[in-house]
Order: sequence, then structure tokens, then C-alpha cells
Amino acid sequence: MTPAEFTCRISSVGRRGITVIDENGQELSARVAGRVYKVTQPVTGDNAIAVKTGDIPVVEKILPRSGVLQRTASSGTSTQTIAANVDMVLVVTSIREPDFSHGFLSRALAAAEWKDLDAVIVLNKTDLCHEHDETLIKEIRAVYGKEGAGYPVFPVSCKTGDGTNELLENIRGMTVVMAGPSGAGKTSLVKYYNPSIDLRIGELNLKTSKGKHTTVAARLIPLEKNTAVIDTAGLKMFSIDHIPRNDLQFCFPEFSGYAGECRFRNCLHLSEPGCAVKSAIQNGTISATRYSMYLSLMKETDPEAR
Ligand code: GDP
Ligand code: ZN
Repeated sequence: MTPAEFTCRISSVGRRGITVIDENGQELSARVAGRVYKVTQPVTGDNAIAVKTGDIPVVEKILPRSGVLQRTASSGTSTQTIAANVDMVLVVTSIREPDFSHGFLSRALAAAEWKDLDAVIVLNKTDLCHEHDETLIKEIRAVYGKEGAGYPVFPVSCKTGDGTNELLENIRGMTVVMAGPSGAGKTSLVKYYNPSIDLRIGELNLKTSKGKHTTVAARLIPLEKNTAVIDTAGLKMFSIDHIPRNDLQFCFPEFSGYAGECRFRNCLHLSEPGCAVKSAIQNGTISATRYSMYLSLMKETDPEAR
């Protein structure tokens, strides 16, 4: 690298410009050299080499990506890359306000599985819990936790800080992408870990010449050195449309130990005889709640079956 060159990470990509975070953690407005586009379209989370000669750094090279997060474009025909170098999905839900939803969680987890991304579950707003909510948290742990579907579950409160250290220890050194219903506390969680961050900075920097804000699909926010979250506008509701109906079962990891024992090799665990997955549900080894989520997602993937 020449003295003017530095490595950075792209923190947002708008129509008129991008922002990068330099090695000192500073977020800067930047441009992308035209020839970069011949190779790839830069996305949030990309590691890059930029050069600072004029007043604004210019990204000259995008470094090779590890995991990418993609979604099916609204037209339904092409796949869009939303973020690069993502290690894990952080599904942020709340126990109350809004009430916990098995539907949202199972859908988000299925989408993460389909992309082969690890996922952890955050149950926010424990400070709002009543006594009987303890039973709900226990049930959620049983269904989704280590004994059930196998995901780490972290009850936290952004208000009191309860559970936030355990969560941070489990995402340290990673780039996690947040998904969660509106109001679950995604912004609050980011602010809790990084109180100094101005969550509007990226948007302000990306104002167009007419003063209009451009659409920022995904924004990377550092929580501490080497640990970051990516907040995405489009991930409030994970789409599972692109998952083929016959493959949905592979997005429920707790089914996999039984699926091989079904009488029919292509068993979809619906009403086929000799289904080992259904037996496991009947004897309580697989959660009936998860199975009912599987059935409702199956219906979504095939309108004919509705
Ligand atoms: P987002 O839409 O997922 O980004 O949710 P926000 O972070 O904007 O939070 C939605 C509302 O929930 C705000 O009024 C927050 O103050 C509140 N909130 C977030 N976390 C907590 C929490 O742990 N406890 C309580 N009581 N309120 C919270
Ligand atoms: Zn079966």
C-alpha cells in the first residue's frame, strides 16, 4: 500500500455516495472509483482499500468477501446482496410491547438457516416482564434453545442492561446482522452498546445535492473494535418466498436427526405414513409449536395448498 492508501470498511451505500469506517473508527463520506464497478457492486460490510488524495477518500479496491446476506429483489426475479462479511444473524424480538411472536421468530430463523448463517435470539424488554412471563421465557428456551432447535437465547433489557454483557460476549469479534419486528428494540440495543453513535450520521452524509435523503439499505454500526452490527431497513420481515417447498424442512435444524428415519426418502413430514419427524413431535422430542410453524410456512410456500 502507498502512504495515501488505507484499509477501511464500507458502512453504508447510497445512490450518491458511500460512507466508510477507517482504522481509527472514524466514519467518513467517500466515493467509489468507477473501475471498481467493473468488478463488483460495493455493499455495506465490504472491506476495502481507499486512497486519500483530495478531500474525500476514494475506494479503489474491494477485498474478497466471506459470508454475504442476500434477498430476493421485490420483482422476485433477481437476488440482491444486502451486506458482506456477515457472521451471524441477531434476531431481536421482545417479550412485551410488541408481544413475542413465534411466527416472526421461526420465519427469521428459517431464512437464516437457508443462507447457512448462524443465528442467536435476543428477547428484549425483560424489565417489562410480569411474573408469569418467566414461564414464557422458559418455554421459549425449551423450544428454541440448546435443548430444542439449538439456538442461543439471550433475555436482555436495554433499559436496565440485564443480560447485555452475556450477549456481547457471544457476538464479540463478529459482524452480526439484525433482524426484528419494528419496536422490538434494535435501535435501543445499538445505542446501549455504543451510546456515542449518531444513528442519523449515515443518512445525513448521504444527502443528495437536492437535500433529499437517499435510500440506505443497510448500515454498519461498530459496537466496539472488530464487532459490528448491520441494521437493514428491509429485514423487518424476512422473506422465505425463495425457499423451495421441499427444502423448507432443512431450515428446521431439530428435524434433521429424524428425517433420515422416515419411511419415504422424500417425506415432507405432513401426512405421510411412517414419518419419524411426526413421531418425534408426538412423543414431545420435537416441539409442537415449531411443527405448527413449519406447517404454516409450508402453506405460504405453496399457495395451492392453502
Ligand atoms: P426498533 O424499532 O426495533 O429499532 O425499536 P426501538 O429501539 O426504536 O425501540 C422501540 C421502543 O421500545 C422505544 O420506545 C424504546 O425506548 C423501547 N425499548 C427498547 N428497549 C427496551 C427495553 O429493554 N425495555 C423497555 N421498557 N423499553 C425498551
Ligand atoms: Zn417424515
